[in-house]
Amino acid sequence: MLQWWSLGSGSTGNATLVKAGPSSRPTYVLIDCGLGQRALELALLEKGIEPTQLDAIFITHEHADHVGSAAGFSTRNRVPVWASHGTSAAAQLHVLGDLLHITGDGEALDFGGLAVHPFTVPHDAREPLQLKCTDGEEWLGVLTDLGHITPHVVGQLRGCEALLLEANHDADLLHSCRYPPFLKERIAGPLGHLSNEQSALALAELLHPKLRLVVAAHLSQQNNRPELVLKALGDVLDQARLAGSVGNVELCVAEPRRPGKDQP
Ligand SMILES: [Zn+2]
Ligand SMILES: [Zn+2]
Repeated sequence: MLQWWSLGSGSTGNATLVKAGPSSRPTYVLIDCGLGQRALELALLEKGIEPTQLDAIFITHEHADHVGSAAGFSTRNRVPVWASHGTSAAAQLHVLGDLLHITGDGEALDFGGLAVHPFTVPHDAREPLQLKCTDGEEWLGVLTDLGHITPHVVGQLRGCEALLLEANHDADLLHSCRYPPFLKERIAGPLGHLSNEQSALALAELLHPKLRLVVAAHLSQQNNRPELVLKALGDVLDQARLAGSVGNVELCVAEPRRPGKDQP
């Protein structure tokens, strides 16, 4: 059974824990390590997991809210790290030595009970990846930190039963906030982050009858509000349900630096 928890989401730090395989011998993979080392270790212990029990850490890209404490955490707990060439270079992950493994778009990583499939996304990082993963029965798609949706992204995530989907900002709130113009342009640009509207369009492309869970992620605390996200994505799901193209899909919001919702 595939289980996952958002341990933190947003510009203050991202980490998602995925568990697969039998409870007697589970596989644990951490996607991003954007929390402080102590906060991350505490978050894991709250789930009953010792940091040394992690089988792998997958780093999506070098921004501090994702790579965070990866080098220190990996070294201290002897957990191997997977990242792209570009991410490894930009984040200086070579200091990990033989704990570092390079991956890229189109590869399939086998961690025993959990297979991870990374793919390229358009974001202002050196070689950013997002991913889908499966325990052989169910697929989870993880998609944050991208400026727009591409056919490649949609193709990779089609058929996922669960989605962790970026809904970073409300376009009007971003437009009227006090950020300097260059920062607004960066966030709203083609290599920035998905707005609620873009996230809703992405979700509309990923609907299918077996979709059962959507967790909105990487919300800006400054330029978004959970109720706006739930309305934007909820409208898409409501329309699809009326049209009979999806069943009952649970929709919730991943919170910053706090354990997310347990996924049954
Ligand atoms: Zn980010
Ligand atoms: Zn980023």
